[in-house]
Amino acid sequence: MIQSKQCAKCRIKLIPVGETYCPECKESKEKQYYQNRNKEWQHLYGSKWQRARKSFLSQYPLCAECLRNGITKAADVVDHIKSHKGNIELFWDVSSWNSLCFRCHNKKTAKEGAFGNKKEYKGAQ
Ligand SMILES: [Zn+2]
Ligand SMILES: [Zn+2]
Repeated sequence: MIQSKQCAKCRIKLIPVGETYCPECKESKEKQYYQNRNKEWQHLYGSKWQRARKSFLSQYPLCAECLRNGITKAADVVDHIKSHKGNIELFWDVSSWNSLCFRCHNKKTAKEGAFGNKKEYKGAQ
């Protein structure tokens, strides 16, 4: 049974419940998101990363944090569990990647605070 709701951004497109944005809005929001978040490491988030995160998201399409709370929600971003801070090896360490929705990721980065004021992210098992 498929229910639909409005895209939270354009409020025109209908999307499945559990999604937040329609594919177009998701894409533009994501671009903006990566640009804002990763100004310092922007050179790392090039086309290679775009391809890698796309295939990661197709492998792990659900938000890991929501899943832990028993919620099935589509992931929007690939997050680095361990903050890579520009470290290439950490950046490409897939075992440190995590699929998250925008909300969970914002929560996580809010907890971490600004650069240099980072608390270890607890990956509860
Ligand atoms: Zn939309
Ligand atoms: Zn989530």
